[in-house]
Amino acid sequence: MSSSAPFPIVDGKYTMEREPIVRIGVILEEDGASGVDVELPGDGYTVDVPGQASLTLSGESTAALRIQSTSGGTRLQLLSRDGRVLVADALTIRLVPPVPSRPLGAGDGTLVRDIIAGRGFHWAKKIDQTLTHTLEFIPANGNVVMVNELPLETYLTGVITGEMSNECPIEYMKAQAVAARSWLLGQPVPPHPDRPFLWCNDDCCQRYQGTGGWNELAIRAIDQCRGEVLITPSGHYCDARYSKSTGGISEDSESVWGVHIEGLSSVIDAPAGSPIEKFFPVTEANLDEYLDGEWLKTTDAFASPNVVPEATITRYLGRVDEVGEYFRWDLELTQANLVESLTKRGGLTDLVEVLDFKVTQRGRSGRISLLDVRYRDRNGAEKTHTIRREYYVRAGLSMKFLYSSAFRITPHRSADGRLEKVTLRGAGWGHGAGLCQIGGLGRALKGQDYRTILLHYYIGVRLERIYK
Ligand SMILES: [Zn+2]
Repeated sequence: MSSSAPFPIVDGKYTMEREPIVRIGVILEEDGASGVDVELPGDGYTVDVPGQASLTLSGESTAALRIQSTSGGTRLQLLSRDGRVLVADALTIRLVPPVPSRPLGAGDGTLVRDIIAGRGFHWAKKIDQTLTHTLEFIPANGNVVMVNELPLETYLTGVITGEMSNECPIEYMKAQAVAARSWLLGQPVPPHPDRPFLWCNDDCCQRYQGTGGWNELAIRAIDQCRGEVLITPSGHYCDARYSKSTGGISEDSESVWGVHIEGLSSVIDAPAGSPIEKFFPVTEANLDEYLDGEWLKTTDAFASPNVVPEATITRYLGRVDEVGEYFRWDLELTQANLVESLTKRGGLTDLVEVLDFKVTQRGRSGRISLLDVRYRDRNGAEKTHTIRREYYVRAGLSMKFLYSSAFRITPHRSADGRLEKVTLRGAGWGHGAGLCQIGGLGRALKGQDYRTILLHYYIGVRLERIYK
């Protein structure tokens, strides 16, 4: 483990004196916000600015505030609803709410306008969110960065209701919470080491959307697994990564990221003796049958539509996810589609025409980790480019980011042999390593408890409560 881990384990001691405080980047520099509008639910907020006297806010005119960039983008101003300048020139503004008189609930906190969800993806949208605890604002090249500083358990309540909906069974919510807590603690290197926060609020880290999606069930789920973490056989927090759907078989960390992550090994996600076992591992030889065999109609794989019907899945998915089919899916990409995405997202700037694809390596879940693209360049020369890693396969082939890299490519050619289009038949959504969110949901719907769910997806780990 690198010493730059956000929560390093010293001398094997992984328990903590108290619940940690985490700093989550919610509005980032690249979001391009020159100002942020917030609404306070009541009086008693404190404004802290380094080097200046604290300010306590009260009254109608400070119920809505704007924090905006000033002085050529290097400083911040705080303005009241009626345009009064409350803070003229600050390097940092911290907005600290009064200590609440009752336990926090759904919708509590400061309302922040226009937070981006799905950052960098085609489904990105702006939503208003309510966030508890401290909001810190920092200028960044003309834009405003906003960091939410809050206790880990409060953050996790916003993660389990952001990653999936609050209608999931409680045992699934607990499994998701423990995985999310372990992931955050178990990062060997912080995801954003050069920012004023270590984690962001979106899919790049974990989806965190404040208190808007909270309900009694989510609050109870967090309470029942408070401080519980997955510990690996070597005594570290498990870097418990997860994704939406394995497609029936989960993936090895080595195949996805090129490194071994303790606990993240490929497993079959179905009851013992399931017909899916004959596809373990998925290879070129059994791929067709795995992707569209008759067995799929009656499969008992936990992520399959037979366990979690795709028509009802939107009830359980997070609020920004799209409706669709994830266990098996089909997609058509024309020559023009491929040229556009491989040029803009795959880095093939000299590409004129795609000639062929060749899969040279798959992981045990069928996810492609090495893909050769044969193409003609601007000078008419034939070249081969190898795409490495499932992430770049998914990013490079489609402007909409493919659901997964577990797919078969079927070429369609014109009479003179030119590649006109390809059709893809794929399985699953996401990298497929660790917890399968839809499979875990299927297990909870079948009555499994959160320990059983977690110990299936994370191999050899144990559960421990590391703080009270
Ligand atoms: Zn991030």
